[in-house]
Amino acid sequence: MTVVGVLGAGQLGRMLALAGYPLGLRFAFFDENPEAPAGHLGALTVASWDDRAALDAFANTVDLVTYEFENVPVAAAEQLAEHVPVFPPPGALHVAQDRLKEKNLFRDLDIETAQFAPVDTRDDLDRAVAAIGFPSVLKTRMQGYDGKGQRVLRREADLDPAFVAIGGSPLILEAFVPFERELSILAARSRTGETAYWPLVENVHRDGILRLSIAPALGAEGALADAAAAISARTLEALDYVGVLAIELFQHEGRLLANEMAPRVHNSGHWTIEGAKTSQFENHLRAILGLPLGATDAIGVSAMVNLIGETPDPSALLGIEGAHLHLYGKPARPGRKLGHVTLVEPARETLGSALAQVATFVAEPTLKR
Ligand code: AMP
Repeated sequence: MTVVGVLGAGQLGRMLALAGYPLGLRFAFFDENPEAPAGHLGALTVASWDDRAALDAFANTVDLVTYEFENVPVAAAEQLAEHVPVFPPPGALHVAQDRLKEKNLFRDLDIETAQFAPVDTRDDLDRAVAAIGFPSVLKTRMQGYDGKGQRVLRREADLDPAFVAIGGSPLILEAFVPFERELSILAARSRTGETAYWPLVENVHRDGILRLSIAPALGAEGALADAAAAISARTLEALDYVGVLAIELFQHEGRLLANEMAPRVHNSGHWTIEGAKTSQFENHLRAILGLPLGATDAIGVSAMVNLIGETPDPSALLGIEGAHLHLYGKPARPGRKLGHVTLVEPARETLGSALAQVATFVAEPTLKR
């Protein structure tokens, strides 16, 4: 029986295992946190990412390795790659962990991004602001997620406090994009080179955290979908990628600007579990195992609502016809992703009323758009 080793044992690892059991796969997880939620679905090694002996022992128990957490140190992935195949390639992890490398890759591939400049010193910040102007966004290059490590700069007086707050690590300044909406494109590329793209997803964030995804995004056919797929295809090819890759995009004046990528299954793809012919989790496993990819068509129109910080009464949510509830088994904490609800409707017209029902139980202002 094939044992898939997963670096990270959060909810993404948990959903990977749930998708892999019907394929006869077994799972082993590696995480620093003994309470990590995927630990209930497979063997869990609890050790630090720099524990070389623990990584070697882990490699001995698995047939191949993937990750569900993108801040796994590249050195850990490379050490494992000496023993077993590791997908996506550690090179993709290396790029995705640094916003500057990521933006440089997009630029090299002729993929449009917000204007950007690296910032290491306070003088660099003055130079970058002189070139990019206001408003702009100062971000840490590494370890940023869910909007953490970011400051919006609107005037000269914002520079000092922003630099004091996050200037201890390498930074990047980006032009603030007054986007019409945020989208993401998810794709899978197999070890055989086969690729598959899910329909474009529209994402609504609040405080830097994803709250709501709608798929397919309204008006996501034709030229827009083709442009997104081309961005994804070029990135997959350049990284010799294997697995699911998510790229977050801003739609601005009819153009798509790449914001960032995630070399793993992604929150904006959770709707695919019930809303697409094959889920992102199953196709990620098929891709890394070199199996044929499943069809990625949407079954209807889906809405995925994240449950952040608190979970409503499950019986209230499950009382909504057609609601699919996923709880990750994590203790509640403000700002934490604890679960999600997916609604799949045959047509867009009925999605609004279904979402309104969810909004009675989930205190999430973005649902009342
Ligand atoms: P990120 O961590 O880069 O995904 O940023 C989190 C969220 O902040 C994004 O989903 C956007 O809503 C917002 N954001 C990030 N960068 C920019 C930008 N350059 N212009 C406008 N909004 C941004």
